[in-house]
Amino acid sequence: MKFFIILFIGLCVALGVLIRKYDLMKAYYKYQTNELEKLEKKYDRQIETSEKKIDELQNIAYLNATTNIWNIDYFLNKSDRAFKEEYDHTPSFTLVAFNIYNIGKINQLFGPTEGDRAVYFTAQTLKRIAGRQIYAQIYSNLFCILFTDCSDEIITNMINKIYMTLITHDDNIQIKTAYGIYKITDTSMNIMDMINYASLAQKFVKESDPECYKFFTDELNSTFLNNKRMSEEMEQALEDHKFMVYLQPMYDLNSYKIISAEALVRWDYPGKGVLSPYAFLPLFESTSLIQKLDYYMWEECMKTIRRWIDNKIEPTPITMNISPSHLQNDKFVDYLIDLRERYLIQHDLLILEIPERGLSNINEQTKAVITRLHNEGFILCIDNFGSLNSPLNLLKDLPIDRIKLDRSFLSKNSKSDEGLTILRYLIAMAKELDFTVITEGIETEEQANMLLEIGCDVGQGYHFSKPVDLRTFDNLNKTLLSALYRPDEYYPTFEDYEKDLDLVVQFFRTRDSAAASG
Ligand code: C2E
Ligand code: MG
Repeated sequence: MKFFIILFIGLCVALGVLIRKYDLMKAYYKYQTNELEKLEKKYDRQIETSEKKIDELQNIAYLNATTNIWNIDYFLNKSDRAFKEEYDHTPSFTLVAFNIYNIGKINQLFGPTEGDRAVYFTAQTLKRIAGRQIYAQIYSNLFCILFTDCSDEIITNMINKIYMTLITHDDNIQIKTAYGIYKITDTSMNIMDMINYASLAQKFVKESDPECYKFFTDELNSTFLNNKRMSEEMEQALEDHKFMVYLQPMYDLNSYKIISAEALVRWDYPGKGVLSPYAFLPLFESTSLIQKLDYYMWEECMKTIRRWIDNKIEPTPITMNISPSHLQNDKFVDYLIDLRERYLIQHDLLILEIPERGLSNINEQTKAVITRLHNEGFILCIDNFGSLNSPLNLLKDLPIDRIKLDRSFLSKNSKSDEGLTILRYLIAMAKELDFTVITEGIETEEQANMLLEIGCDVGQGYHFSKPVDLRTFDNLNKTLLSALYRPDEYYPTFEDYEKDLDLVVQFFRTRDSAAASG
């Protein structure tokens, strides 16, 4: 019995111990589970933070810091993946590139902060409108969109939407954008090349075009390559004197005497003959080449005047064209003064023609440049006057001496009565303000007489003479100079002048002795 009691107690104790152990194990298990859960949560949090960090790092790598939209690396990466993705059909891809083409003007007129704001607004507009496509800000002022399987209509509609949003965003500042469209035919091509093709098409969009976009075509590409070749050849052509000064005389309409001559550039282009400025100036004006060309032309003009003076020939005042691109600062004024001093040219022998379009959005800086030119003694003339809408303001605000009325007033296409009325009004107004008035594009005697009648002082046009090379001009001006040229030389050097003088003396001796014997 005692044995059973002891056994029972033993079993109870053992059971108690077991129960206790079980409880302990359960508690321990619970503790472990809690700990595990805690750890899991902790790791989850850590994974989340790491993912966030990866995202953040990716954003740093792929986001443009100032505009907060995708950058070039993102665009290259995403486009590459889109091209390589597996599709159940062959998709079409189109790349659009655009920029703000008046960003320089915005910076200049409203300051760099407004310029930055314009770029930021453009980026945000792109993000909002093109959000479902692959898009990015490639460089500071170049944005791209890659369209997958979109029709031309969808693409051009989106372009128009972005364009309109940007142009109307502010009453004072219009953000003007131009778009180039490249339809991708070979996705294995370098993406940067595709961007370059789209950007190239974009460069051909003109402000006057009805559309704000252009599609890349082979024809456009060959024009581009041609332009590129021309730009590269220009520097050499300058050195080789392949640019020539042609002079077109301006006549006093009362006395029919030449009172001045406008210098107009021509390019003696190998294999193509003498090129008119219309064939290359637009290209040069879109780059800084125009400034080099003008510097060259001004020096050639001053050399010509010096040559006349040194040869005792009454010099004709020369009117030189000034491209609007010079007017942003007065560096060119120093250059003109330096040339004038170097060639010892009297002030009244130089007239500067500034096209009206260069003065249409005049600011304080441009005004200061014009005023300096005037104070330095250059005679100033507004060219193509009346071709835009702001003549009255221009005359009121600037120290101008002459105006040259745009030849469109005389053109056969303009309704003659209307053109005549405007001419009458402009001439009367200009005379009232004491300007010398020149009319260009006079092609008939009738026009010359009519202009004289309504008060125009000076005329220029094919009726009197087309622009001619220097040799012909000298002949036209009834000078001796034709005798002074050696056939293989176009520009005599200063060393030649002594020889020239001998020729002049000889000429007069022959002439005088002929007169004496006659
Ligand atoms: P512009 O300054 O208005 O020059 C007058 C243009 O009208 C010249 O064209 C001249 O040949 C043309 N013209 C003159 N009379 C008549 C006429 O009776 N009928 C017609 N239909 N046309 C006439 P061109 O020489 O082809 O020059 C074109 C423009 O190129 C010039 O227009 C001028 O803005 C620019 N340009 C020419 N040379 C230079 C230059 O050296 N530097 C700069 N910056 N621009 C230049
Ligand atoms: Mg001119």
